[in-house]
Amino acid sequence: MEKRITGVMIYYYFICKRKLWYFVHEINMENENENVMLGKLLDENSYKRNDKHINIDNVINIDFIREQKELHEIKKSRAIEEAGVWQVKYYLYYLKQRGVDGLKAKIDYPLLKKNLVVELTEEDEKRLNEVIQEIERTKEQAQPPRLSSQKICAKCAYHDLCFI
Ligand code: SF4
Repeated sequence: MEKRITGVMIYYYFICKRKLWYFVHEINMENENENVMLGKLLDENSYKRNDKHINIDNVINIDFIREQKELHEIKKSRAIEEAGVWQVKYYLYYLKQRGVDGLKAKIDYPLLKKNLVVELTEEDEKRLNEVIQEIERTKEQAQPPRLSSQKICAKCAYHDLCFI
């Protein structure tokens, strides 16, 4: 099983613990999901700049704009989600742990025509330490967490696994 904690795991942690469980147990259905396809299309078409797409240890997968020392994440969501903000905070955290400090991060929401500056505080770092431990525990669990239906279930790639 994948040992590293990836940005997607952090994202899922804040979206749904059951989704996180499926994902860390390598039950991956995202390729079949239209929303994910839309995300990929936006990724390819919305922000064509001279950015560099970086992948670090397969944990960070994000655009980096060199002149501004800025990380850029593009979210297809029609709402600014806490989970997306934590995902980007985790990238800053991960890089800081490896000695890369002083970066800025921004999330672009093309569908909202908005962007959001993301910073990492000491409090965030403490919270992320706890989140990482909880994700590690989720990996050890043999059963998924109890199902609790929420609004996003209708659009979730794991919907059929949970409800049929
Ligand atoms: S369908 Fe709902 S409960 Fe199941 S994994 Fe998705 S979001 Fe979580």
